[in-house]
Amino acid sequence: MAVSSRIPAQPDCSICLSPFLLPGEKTYTACRHTFHQACLQKWLEKGDSCPICRHLLIKFVSFEQVSAAAQKWRKSQLSESELKQLCERFQKGIKIKANEKRRIEKLRIEDIKKEYAVLEQLNFRDDFSLIQLHLMKEKIENEARKRKSNKDFNCMLIFIVAFCIFIFLPNAHPKSKR
Ligand SMILES: [Zn+2]
Ligand SMILES: [Zn+2]
Repeated sequence: MAVSSRIPAQPDCSICLSPFLLPGEKTYTACRHTFHQACLQKWLEKGDSCPICRHLLIKFVSFEQVSAAAQKWRKSQLSESELKQLCERFQKGIKIKANEKRRIEKLRIEDIKKEYAVLEQLNFRDDFSLIQLHLMKEKIENEARKRKSNKDFNCMLIFIVAFCIFIFLPNAHPKSKR
């Protein structure tokens, strides 16, 4: 994922038009535009596309949001079409997450680590990047755990073999001489 070379030079946040002062307050969208993290978050409460290029920034709808909306719909505080739209976005989100999970499953752990490092360094904070980071972190941690338990198992195996040799070998020798 060669993203770092494609980041355009953009001195100020296009939402509030103020410069970036602290490195941590800067955030990148999936379309490689930069904003203050707080500015973008506020913007995405209303819209779901990039303020500069209108690139659709995926905003995942949670199950809690859907059930809260369903309750509102039951009380006639929400129209059926709005609820339907939310459900569709929820389903789409599940599909996107599953696809990304499958993609990460297929990658080698070394490539996942590299991609994770790039994403983390660029400080993407749109929903999709957060999901990517979460999935990659999970995979890296699982792999580390698996390696550790394999190592533990090997240590135990060596110990058992050594123990068996220690117990049985001295007894086996006199017998074989007879
Ligand atoms: Zn700003
Ligand atoms: Zn953009």
